[in-house]
Amino acid sequence: MAVPPEVARRAQELRQEIRRHDYLYYVLDRPEIPDHVYDALMRELRHLEETWPELVTPDSPTQRVGGMVAEGFSPVTHSIPLLSLDNAFSEADLLDFDRRVQAGLAAAGLLAGEGVTYVAEHKIDGLSVALRYEQGVLVRAATRGDGITGEDVTANARTIRSIPLRLQLDPPPAVLEVRGEVFMPKENFQRLNQAREEAGEPLFANPRNAAAGSVRQLDPRITASRALDTFIYDLLVLDWGGVPGEVPAAHHEALALMQRAGFKVNPHNRVCRGIREAWQYCQEWTQTRHQLGYQIDGVVIKLDDLKARPVLGTTAHGPRWATAYKFPAEEANTRVREIIVGVGRTGVLTPVAVFDPVHLAGTTVSRASLHNEDYVAEKDIRIGDWVVVHKAGDIIPEVVRVLADRRTGEEVPFHMPDRCPACGSQVMRLPGEAATRCTAGMACPAQLREGLIHFGTREAMDINGLGPAVVDALLAAGLVRTAADLYRLDPNRVAALERMGPKSAENLVKAIAASRTRPLARLLVALGIPHVGKRVAQDLASHFGSMGPLAAAGPDELMAVPGVGPEIAQAVYNFFRQEGVRTLLQDLAQAGVEAVRLGEGERISQAAPVSGPLAGMTIVITGTLQSMTRTEAEEAVAAAGGRAAGSVSAKTSAVVVGENPGSKYDRARALGVPVWTEQEFLRRLGRLAPPSGEH
Ligand code: AMP
Repeated sequence: MAVPPEVARRAQELRQEIRRHDYLYYVLDRPEIPDHVYDALMRELRHLEETWPELVTPDSPTQRVGGMVAEGFSPVTHSIPLLSLDNAFSEADLLDFDRRVQAGLAAAGLLAGEGVTYVAEHKIDGLSVALRYEQGVLVRAATRGDGITGEDVTANARTIRSIPLRLQLDPPPAVLEVRGEVFMPKENFQRLNQAREEAGEPLFANPRNAAAGSVRQLDPRITASRALDTFIYDLLVLDWGGVPGEVPAAHHEALALMQRAGFKVNPHNRVCRGIREAWQYCQEWTQTRHQLGYQIDGVVIKLDDLKARPVLGTTAHGPRWATAYKFPAEEANTRVREIIVGVGRTGVLTPVAVFDPVHLAGTTVSRASLHNEDYVAEKDIRIGDWVVVHKAGDIIPEVVRVLADRRTGEEVPFHMPDRCPACGSQVMRLPGEAATRCTAGMACPAQLREGLIHFGTREAMDINGLGPAVVDALLAAGLVRTAADLYRLDPNRVAALERMGPKSAENLVKAIAASRTRPLARLLVALGIPHVGKRVAQDLASHFGSMGPLAAAGPDELMAVPGVGPEIAQAVYNFFRQEGVRTLLQDLAQAGVEAVRLGEGERISQAAPVSGPLAGMTIVITGTLQSMTRTEAEEAVAAAGGRAAGSVSAKTSAVVVGENPGSKYDRARALGVPVWTEQEFLRRLGRLAPPSGEH
């Protein structure tokens, strides 16, 4: 049977809407709707596509993660070689570069009086890729490889959300090819390494390796789980196929065009009149680069005038019209005073070097993790050694090497303790694993402490006031032994703790009580499952809907969740097989934590609209409401069984109009969609009594 036209239309509408929200979220970093509303759009589209498979197009937002594991990467010959860049290390090097550019341009009669215009850009420390679009649709992504031949990594690139599957240009060019950098934001790098350390897996040395390792994965689901991002910085091919279209004459115009096409273009790119301005840019970013959320190792300076570039040509190494200024390496020498051993949330014992404080990449540091026994042995780090330290990925302090020639013979080798420094239990190192662990679980105070602190963090159960100091006080007084005990705290006993008073105790107990209703995704984060951060937790929660089926799921079922690869699936599966975890879940359920309770055989499927006063209705909100924020309003709609949408269509059930409504109000009126005032909305939600005379 043919797809009914209204279904095709709805699918088209959903795709456009999802693409727009992807763009807002992943490229502009300005989401307009809460995650669960986005999830609902995605679910609706998936449902339509499952019912009518002929609706599926390769550029549909549902098609980012394909299920196939590749056997290898096929080679791709680049249409334009992806060259490397010449390096500059000083102002003098830059002036030389500028002199060569000027001479080349002058010889071709292209030098206009007042110096050369350049564009200065961050040199992102990641992995270079070329993306090819035909008729506006992504058809191929390739790594740089040796510059001539790269590897086809299309399936993996598709999982990177800031890479558009379809360009926002209408009409699209026949062919467009761009080059950019795939990178891992510093924070994700840190988190990934933390998770790997806890899981006893080898660490990535820096975000560049992490990005490269994630893109060069035969299983796209692993790439999808790695939270990669992009900046696109060069337009390689633009062919409008005979239709008139914009052809940029300058690099800064090309950047603007790529931005309009939907790519993520670095906001800090700057047009510089003359090399001195470019040098200024280099100096500025030498100072402030550490504040960025991603690692840069220098500045790329490119000739702005595109038609002058071929005149200058290239060397075997790189183009003559660009150069890369490299920041000086940031290292410092210091002396290891002590090697202490910490116990993490999952019981892993981590040796930590404590050294004389040094200033490094924007902060003062005095400690660096030494990860595990083998690492210490391999680097032969001893107490009393002089060492060189730096920050991996601009963020994680690390001992680079020992200055062995400064040894006096007084240095003391390190040995891993055979008992947990926190609880005295026997520690264990599994064969084939680098990590040494305390296996006492929550019975080990260090693990309990870290677990409780994590439980209350903002991304987890969001319990205001449950910081490290309070956790320490609660533990010291013996008031909690598991996370579930938090829900049974007696305010009077809390008030008696040091630095607490009746008011703060009451607030804490209230904040804990309020966290009982946190959604499943947050509880999953709170439980501290290895590899499960906010995004994966959300994916799991919306796929399984409740704790019961999730805890029971096998690895294969888990891998069916978009964004969950074998690594994560195994970690989740193992987690729920632990006796202690099961007990904790039961305990939390008894303590009234709803996300667990709902799981125990009770109906709750996220997929279908539940019952409620707005069941089956699609509600759009515009303008400012008096009684709640936009997010709260959308959550209220969802809680009442409705669906909150971001734009008005003929199918919209009602538009709630607050103060200063936007164009959605006009559209609602034009389409004859019912318009509700805030009062009316509250009444429908059952939060206001109906006006007298109404039933
Ligand atoms: P290198 O690998 O040090 O020779 O530097 C060249 C590499 O810098 C290129 O292969 C790109 O991967 C990378 N790169 C990072 N940011 C940029 C940028 N804004 N423009 C050009 N290349 C960049």
